[in-house]
Amino acid sequence: MQLHLGTLYVVQLTTFSLLTLAVLLMGLRYPQERALRHWGIGGLLASTGMLLIALRPVIPAWLSVDAANIVLFVALSLTWSGALALEQRPVRWRVQLALVLLASALLVSLSSSPAYFEQRAVLYSACYMLFNLLALRVFINSPHRHRLGYRLIGTLILLLMLCQMGRITLAMYFSHGELAGSPYFVLANFVLILLEFAKILAFIFVCFESLEIRLYQLAMHDPLTGLYNRRAFHEQAQQRLATQSGEPVALLVLDLDYFKQVNDRYGHQAGDDVLVHLARLLHTQLSPFDALYARSGGEEFVMMLTGNAANLAPVIAENIRSALAAHAIQTSDGQHVLQTTSIGIARGLAGQGSLRQLVMEADMALYQAKQQGRNCVRSSTQTL
Ligand code: GH3
Ligand code: MG
Ligand code: MG
Repeated sequence: MQLHLGTLYVVQLTTFSLLTLAVLLMGLRYPQERALRHWGIGGLLASTGMLLIALRPVIPAWLSVDAANIVLFVALSLTWSGALALEQRPVRWRVQLALVLLASALLVSLSSSPAYFEQRAVLYSACYMLFNLLALRVFINSPHRHRLGYRLIGTLILLLMLCQMGRITLAMYFSHGELAGSPYFVLANFVLILLEFAKILAFIFVCFESLEIRLYQLAMHDPLTGLYNRRAFHEQAQQRLATQSGEPVALLVLDLDYFKQVNDRYGHQAGDDVLVHLARLLHTQLSPFDALYARSGGEEFVMMLTGNAANLAPVIAENIRSALAAHAIQTSDGQHVLQTTSIGIARGLAGQGSLRQLVMEADMALYQAKQQGRNCVRSSTQTL
């Protein structure tokens, strides 16, 4: 059986267009993942460009050659802007537009040259390499470069560039007439389109990977302070207890004193500012230790110390308490709020007694601190 190249081309183009349309629709459904829109529009433009080229026998040359290539330049540039969007980095629209305009101007200026076909092929390849390289650079410099999706895209872009180099070498080697009939050229085109398909699938994969990670981050963090929330704390605390079995462990529960009055007197925003201030203070005080800490809800925070740090828990808690009480907190609207806190501590050995028990003991110690006048640290007498 013989493959009819024309039919193959139509099938490829239709499938590619549908796939990129799906990417665009996903981009509209998940607007927070801007890269999907860049790559969806880029893919559809690439399909349009390829369609115009295929219609060469029936449409004017300016449309099937010049316009088609310019559309392809824009499509290529969107690979780069999509990569930046994925990374939540600003898209460099001006540079992108300038590069596309430069390539288009060069294309138009070459159109009267007798070697237009070869020159156009080199220009297109140069654009292809440039925008793919720029995108590759974004992926390589990303802090997420070790993720599967990033590696996949990086590898595909490298393969695509190699394939494009092979294609341009063939285009330089053969004359215009011979080229279309060369089996190598057909093969290079075939591999290229397959890789482009794979690239679109990798784009979808990487977008959903980053969407999932972002949703996970949102589900695990408190939006006001940026600290872990109760769920994240419990998950990670359980892990620590399991992996550091036998090590000393301390659980600290911190509750702001008379915080309701702060809201009533200074306003809810001022209350929020106090919570953010405390989160920063915890970060400063706890950063020397391998501490796990979170906002467990409202004006309550929870911390876990293990190893040597667990033995220092009363000192660390006292430092936090005194550092907070030492200065008035300046709120965003210029008010000054004096805030104190009470802290309850429970101690034990990891692996003996549950997290729930530790929290209950720490809560009881906190209750004592509240009962005994607030602005103080109390430790549970019971060791788990
Ligand atoms: P105590 O010393 O006994 O802990 O008294 P309290 O006033 O701190 O405790 P209470 O439980 O009566 O009040 C807690 C207050 O914390 C009530 C609520 O308005 C406030 N609060 C909880 N979450 C937030 C928040 O996200 N922002 C602000 N501004 N206030 C919050
Ligand atoms: Mg409370
Ligand atoms: Mg309170």
